[in-house]
Amino acid sequence: MQCLPGGGEDFRVCSGRRKGKYGHLMPYFDCNATVPLHPVARAAWLEASDTAGLNPGGPYRAAARVHARLDDARERMAVLLGARPDRVVFTSGATESINTVIAGMVPGSGPDDRVAITATEHPAVRSAAGFFWGERVIELGVDGLGRLDSGELARRLLTDRPRLACIMAANNETGVVTAVEACVEACRAAGVPMLCDATQWVGKLPTSKLEGTDFLVGGAHKFGGPKGIGFLRLPAGGSLPPLIQGGGQEGGHRAGTENVPSILAMVAVLEHIANECLPEISGREVMRAAFEEKLKSGLPGVRIVGEGADRLWNTVSVILPGGDNGWWVQKLDQRGFEVSTGSACASGHDTASHVLTAHGLTAAEARRTLRLSASWGTEAADWEALGDAMVSLAAEQTASPVIRVVDPES
Ligand code: PLP
Repeated sequence: MQCLPGGGEDFRVCSGRRKGKYGHLMPYFDCNATVPLHPVARAAWLEASDTAGLNPGGPYRAAARVHARLDDARERMAVLLGARPDRVVFTSGATESINTVIAGMVPGSGPDDRVAITATEHPAVRSAAGFFWGERVIELGVDGLGRLDSGELARRLLTDRPRLACIMAANNETGVVTAVEACVEACRAAGVPMLCDATQWVGKLPTSKLEGTDFLVGGAHKFGGPKGIGFLRLPAGGSLPPLIQGGGQEGGHRAGTENVPSILAMVAVLEHIANECLPEISGREVMRAAFEEKLKSGLPGVRIVGEGADRLWNTVSVILPGGDNGWWVQKLDQRGFEVSTGSACASGHDTASHVLTAHGLTAAEARRTLRLSASWGTEAADWEALGDAMVSLAAEQTASPVIRVVDPES
């Protein structure tokens, strides 16, 4: 059952649990924000820092050896992403990759050219589109379960003829998964290039369904790799003006000395997940389903966002019957569970999540919504303990004169 090597405390710390202030292991349920460094990635990073720390662009043999390791990493990443190596560009992460594509489509565009984005895209896409395209951004709505309808997409693409369609593979707040292959078909039929933000998909689901996308992006820290490293997979024969100007690294697609140790660590952990973890997806879905059943029976009035849609096995977005989500985060934290109210990039903002309102939730419902996101290291017992803690907190809340359980329909 265990899909990660090593076992024992290392395994627990790296994945489903994090060391708390007093050295105990806290069940960590904010993996869509970031996943602690996986031991496979750590070992690869340390080894490469010792043996491949030189600039791969140097003119001597030792630098050529580092360059050879970079080439090897690119080939392995290309296999993982189903593409030729010359289509793989290493970047600092998903945000940079997204900005590169969205900015890269501006040169040569006319005043009537537009970009289309799904209404539930991450701020990395929404803000980049707004910054580089201003008023020329059109939104593609989703249904009440957060799904983009591929038939509707096909119609919109033929009517609006955008220069680029940005369609995320899996949502960071709700875990709702897009029918990527159907969207690829719609984009192809309309001749519109597709940027697929697969930041929450890669490392959790097989990448084979993403192969037809034109631009594909992701970041290593969402699957246990180091922070500050990610990838952009270009379309066959495709090129873009580099966002980061400077030297001619990455085949001229992205300037700056390559972060070879982090690249090697990212590839190593992704290979590990592909071989050892992905075969366990159905078991993970069972764990999530049992947790949701526990919540539904122990917390009357609770609702799961996107229930009925295809969702990531690791993510539960739950509308609680009472109390605001800040209260829940704090109380669960005190009981040793780290959870989140939604996107880490939006935390601290007072406005209701655009993802939840796109699902049709009211602002009040959005304020009662928690995001729980696990990793491959999360065990059934962790989900169970979280469910028990939430049920017991709800009882505490009902007894409180200050925080009442509200009408779940309000
Ligand atoms: N896209 C999605 C769906 C994400 O969840 C995130 C991070 O939360 C990003 C893009 C941006 O990733 P990063 O901040 O690591 O560049």
